[in-house]
Amino acid sequence: EFVDFNKFFSAIIERFEFSKSQSVQFQRQFADESLFVEIDPDKMTQVIDNIISNALKYSPDGGTVRFGIEKAEDDILVSIADEGMGIPQDMVKRIFDRFYRADRARSRAMGGTGLGLAIAKEMIQAHGGTIWAESEEGKGTTIFFTLPLEQHEDGEWD
Ligand code: ATP
Ligand code: MG
Repeated sequence: EFVDFNKFFSAIIERFEFSKSQSVQFQRQFADESLFVEIDPDKMTQVIDNIISNALKYSPDGGTVRFGIEKAEDDILVSIADEGMGIPQDMVKRIFDRFYRADRARSRAMGGTGLGLAIAKEMIQAHGGTIWAESEEGKGTTIFFTLPLEQHEDGEWD
C-alpha cells in the first residue's frame, strides 16, 4: 500500500499523544513535501508503536521525544529521539538481537520481552530499509530507520 509517510506517522504520534500519561513533550520535525513509501501499514504500525513505547518507557518526567522525517537521496530517514538514560556503547548494537535487554534488572521492572526491536529490524529489512540506534549514556537514545522512497503518480495527468 502506498502511504504518505508524514500523515501515517502523524496519526500514530497523535494516538500516543492522547493516551500518554507522563509529562513528556512531543516535537515533530517533518519534511515539508509529501514522501510516499510502499508499506504494510499494520506491520509498520507495530514497528513504530514499539519504538515510541520504548522512548516513553525510558523518558524522564519533563523529557522531550523528537520525531523526524527527512528525505535522504532515494530513502526517507525517520528518527525517534528520547532524553532517557541511554544505552552503554558496547550494547547499542545488541538491542536489535532477540531477547536482548540492556539492563536485566531495569528491564524486568519495566516489563516486556526484549523482542520488540528484533521484530522491528526484521520488518524494516523486509521493507528494504535499515534500522540502527545511536545513544549516549545520560543523554538519550535515537532510533533511526530508512525506507525506500516511492515515486508517486499524483499529478501525472495534470
Ligand atoms: P518488548 O518491546 O518486547 O516489550 P523490550 O522493550 O524490553 O520488550 P526491545 O523493544 O526489543 O525490548 O528493546 C530491547 C532493549 O533495548 C530494552 O530492554 C532496553 O534495554 C533497550 N532499549 C530499547 N529502547 C531504549 C531506549 N529508548 N532507551 C534506553 N534503552 C532502550
Ligand atoms: Mg520494546
